Amino acid sequence: MKKIQMVDLHGQYLKIKDEIDTAILNCINSTAFINGPEVKNFAAALETYLDVPRVIPCANGTDALQIAMMALDLQPGDEVIVPAFTYVATAEVIGLLKLTPVMVDVDPNTFCVTPEEIEKAISPKTKAIVPVHLFGQCADMDGIMEVAKRHNLYVIEDTAQAIGAVYTSPKTGSQKMAGAIGDFGCTSFFPSKNLGCYGDGGAIYSNNAALADQAALIANHGQSKKYVHKVIGVNSRLDTIQAAILGVKLQFLDKYSAARQQVAARYDTAFSSIEGLQIPVRNNDSTHVFHQYTLLVKDGRRDQLKDYLAENGIPAMVYYPIPLNEQEAFMEIGRISGELKVTKELCNNVISLPIHTEMVEAEQDFIIDHVKKFFK
Ligand SMILES: *Cc1c(COP(=O)(O)O)cnc(C)c1O
Repeated sequence: MKKIQMVDLHGQYLKIKDEIDTAILNCINSTAFINGPEVKNFAAALETYLDVPRVIPCANGTDALQIAMMALDLQPGDEVIVPAFTYVATAEVIGLLKLTPVMVDVDPNTFCVTPEEIEKAISPKTKAIVPVHLFGQCADMDGIMEVAKRHNLYVIEDTAQAIGAVYTSPKTGSQKMAGAIGDFGCTSFFPSKNLGCYGDGGAIYSNNAALADQAALIANHGQSKKYVHKVIGVNSRLDTIQAAILGVKLQFLDKYSAARQQVAARYDTAFSSIEGLQIPVRNNDSTHVFHQYTLLVKDGRRDQLKDYLAENGIPAMVYYPIPLNEQEAFMEIGRISGELKVTKELCNNVISLPIHTEMVEAEQDFIIDHVKKFFK
C-alpha cells in the first residue's frame, strides 16, 4: 500500500495525464498566457455546470470574496456577518476593506452558520452575510435568504469547499448549486479543493447582471474599456494554463464528488457505532461533496487520536484549531455575537480524516481499522 495522504493530486493527474498535458501544451504553444480563449471557455462551461448566467474567473478564492464585497460597494464600518468557525480568508478580506466582521456561532451538527445566530447578530450597521458551506455541504440557505430579505442584507456564499453540492429548497423544492443562491458565490480552485488547478485560481458567480458586471470591472483594474478606468479595482486573473486544466477537470467533477461520497459512506458505516465519535451530520436539504470528512471526538480524546493515527502512518488534520475570534488579527476589528460555545467546542474536538478521489479500499480499511482499534 502507498503512503496514505490527505489528498493525492499526483495520482489524480496520472489518470487524466494525456488530456491535461495536451491542454497545457496548447497554452504554451499559443503563448496566450493571460486571458487566452481557455479562460472564457472554462467560465462558460462552469456557467453551464452551475446553471448561473455569469462566472467571473479570478486569481484565487480570497480575491473572489474581496471582489464581491467591493462590487457591493460596502463602506468602512459596515458590518458583515461571518461564522467564527471557518478558514481565515472568509473574514480577512472584511478586515482588509475596513468593514467589521461580526463573528457568530455555528450549528453543532452541520458546523455551518445558522439563520438564528445570524439574526441575533444583526445591528443597524449590518450590510451583508457570508455563509460558508463548510467541509462540502450547504448551510441552511432558505433560512439565511429569508433573514437577509427581511433585513435587506446582501448574501455572499463562500463556496470554496462545496463546489458541486446541490441545495434543495425545502419550501419550493427548487434545486440550486452551492454558490448560485445568494447575490454572489465565491469559490477557490486551490489545488486541494474539490475542483483544484495546479496553482492558484478562483471564481465569482452571480445571477444579478449588474452585480456581475461590477465584479468583472473590479477584477480587471476597474477598466471599462482599454485604458478607461471607472473605479479603483484590482488585478485578479485566472491564468490561461490554470483555466485549461480546470476545463479538463470540470468534466470529472461529479465523478470526483461521487468518489469522495463513497469513501464517506464507508467511514460512516464503520464509525457510526463507535460511542466516542460523532460522524458528519448531513443537512437534509443539501448534498455533501466531502471536501473534508470531519469527525467530532468525544471525551477530550481528539489529540490522542491524532497522535495515534500519526504513529501508524495516517495523516489527519484539525480544521480549524483556533476560532476566528481568538485570532490576534481579529481582536481589534471584529465584533463577537454571543458566546461562540459551539465554535470553541469544535476547535477543541474535531478531526478530519484523509478523503480524496484516488483512495483505494485498502487505504480506507487501514484507516478504519486503526480508528476502531483506538476506541476499543
Ligand atoms: C480555501 C478557502 C478560501 C480561500 O481560497 P484561496 O483560493 O486559498 O484564496 C476561502 N474560504 C474558504 C472556506 C476556503 O476553504
